[in-house]
Amino acid sequence: YHEELHLQKVSRVGLMGGTFDPIHSGHLVTAEAARSEFSLDKVIFVPSGQPPHKKGLPISGKEFRYLMTVLATAPNPYFEVSRVELERPGESFAIDTVRYFKDLLNPGSELYFITGADAILEIVTWKEVEELLENCTFIAATRPGFDLNELRYKLLEKLTDKHLKKIIPLEVPAMAISSTDIRNRVKNKGTIKYLLPESVENFIYKNELYRT
Ligand code: ATP
Ligand code: MG
Repeated sequence: YHEELHLQKVSRVGLMGGTFDPIHSGHLVTAEAARSEFSLDKVIFVPSGQPPHKKGLPISGKEFRYLMTVLATAPNPYFEVSRVELERPGESFAIDTVRYFKDLLNPGSELYFITGADAILEIVTWKEVEELLENCTFIAATRPGFDLNELRYKLLEKLTDKHLKKIIPLEVPAMAISSTDIRNRVKNKGTIKYLLPESVENFIYKNELYRT
C-alpha cells in the first residue's frame, strides 16, 4: 500500500492510533501536547481498521471515521492522517503499523507512539510488545492526579526495566473526554459542543451518526 503523506525532511514522528469514533478534543489536545513536549515534526493519526479489542462492538464505518479524523486534523500543519490500517485486510496490530512507518520514513527517524495511560496497560497484552518497545518510544497521556507509581508497578510485573524506560508519561488536561460519552450524548440528544471540533460535530449530525 502506498500513500502520499507530507514526510519530507521529517525525523521525529508521533503515531496516534485510535478508533476515532468520533475523534475528539482529548485526542487533539494530547497529540498537540506530545508534539510540543517531544519536538515532533509530525503527528500521524492512524484510524484503525478492525480494532482487535473492540471485536463484536458496533463501530461506525471506516470511511466515516477516516473523514472525521481528516476534518479534525486539517487545520493543524503538523498533523497527518494515514489510511494504512484501513487499507490492510484483517485485524489492526500496532506492530504492523510501526514496521510500515519504519520503512516509509527517512533512515534514522525516531518514532513515538502516543496513547492514553489506560491503554498502555493493554499494550502488554498486544502482539509482539518487546519488538514494539524496541522500535518506538511510548508517550502515555495521563490526566492530572493520575497515580503513575501504580501504573509503573503494574507494568513492572510484565516488562523488564529496559522496556519500561521506553514508556514516558505526559500529563494532559482534557482526559475526561471520551468517544463513548460523546456517542451517548448524541443518542440522548445532549450537547457535544466544544468536546470536539465544530466540523466533526456538523458531520455527525449531517450523517445521522450515533442516533441509535
Ligand atoms: P472509546 O470511548 O470508544 O473507547 P476513546 O475516547 O477511548 O473511545 P479511542 O479512539 O479508543 O478513543 O482512543 C484512541 C487513543 O486515544 C487511545 O490511546 C486512548 O487511550 C487515547 N485517548 C482517548 N481519549 C483520550 C483523552 N481524553 N485524552 C487523551 N488520550 C485519549
Ligand atoms: Mg478507548
